Amino acid sequence: MKNDFGVYAKSSGGVLQRRLLTVNGKVPLPDSTPGAEIIDFSELNFHTYAVIIDQLITCQPYLVKTEKGEHFGEIDNNVYGFIVDMTNDLVSTMEKESPLFGTLTRTALADNLPQDDGTAMHCLHTAQEIIHTLTDVIACQFEMNDVLDALCGKGNPSLDTVGGFLKDVQLTEVTGLSNPLAGYYRFRSMEDYYHFLLLRMVEDKTRVARCECCGRFFIPRTRAATKYCDRVIRDGKTCKQIAPALKHQQQAERDKVINAFDRAKRRMYKRYDRALAGNKKHSPRDLSLKDYYAWLDPATRARDEYLAGKLTAEQALAVIEADPVKDAATQ
Ligand SMILES: [Zn+2]
Repeated sequence: MKNDFGVYAKSSGGVLQRRLLTVNGKVPLPDSTPGAEIIDFSELNFHTYAVIIDQLITCQPYLVKTEKGEHFGEIDNNVYGFIVDMTNDLVSTMEKESPLFGTLTRTALADNLPQDDGTAMHCLHTAQEIIHTLTDVIACQFEMNDVLDALCGKGNPSLDTVGGFLKDVQLTEVTGLSNPLAGYYRFRSMEDYYHFLLLRMVEDKTRVARCECCGRFFIPRTRAATKYCDRVIRDGKTCKQIAPALKHQQQAERDKVINAFDRAKRRMYKRYDRALAGNKKHSPRDLSLKDYYAWLDPATRARDEYLAGKLTAEQALAVIEADPVKDAATQ
């Protein structure tokens, strides 16, 4: 039954237990914590996914035939078929790479797409809804980055800090004595799943910090103030091992690179977000998702290679501060 697919999750005492029902059957997921899952999601790379969304957005205006000799308002079935096939391929690929994300994308589409009533409007709405559902995932990832940012260094997180992000949380609990999934909540979209994790993270009083060495979010292990994370960044050593030994000038230089990366990331996302908003005036500086990732991938690599000692600050900043649109136009 299609309605059974989804992620089933429950958390108590800070431990997150999950069951995953996919089109290919049950897939085991290790126990985790709400905070660790949110941080993992906030760092995922959606580049390939973004390229497909951009292609769908590019195809959308060609759905309705307008050329001479055609009936105006008729759907071009080749274009419609292409959009549907490409979406199905994307979902299958995601299911192979990450059963959790693939399944949540499949179920969100199944719940959001309109019923087929055989009309041209149905095709138009389906295409629109596909693009909406897929872009919502990227928006959700940015939202989680904003939440983590808001929670950083604030001590125990409070519902006040994240309340604005939690407005629309939908929780469906599985009931029934004989149901092995009783007591689990069922999720069929990334938004609902990550909003649930966020709610639990706040209830568990999980603190979030930003590593002063690599600039990434992490969950401190102890209540004591922790400046650095345990990610391995250089010569097999972690931020915690490397950062305290840096000289003052090296620390200042590192802050400059990390801050430049964070600022540029926010700026680039705004330019993409503006391009999506239909009601705003478009500017030549707007970015497609593909442009955005064409910046993000090399910029993230430059930041990490700088931290690993393979690039100088100047070399890293040149990549981080490059403009994907301007630079592409002058090539
Ligand atoms: Zn770090």
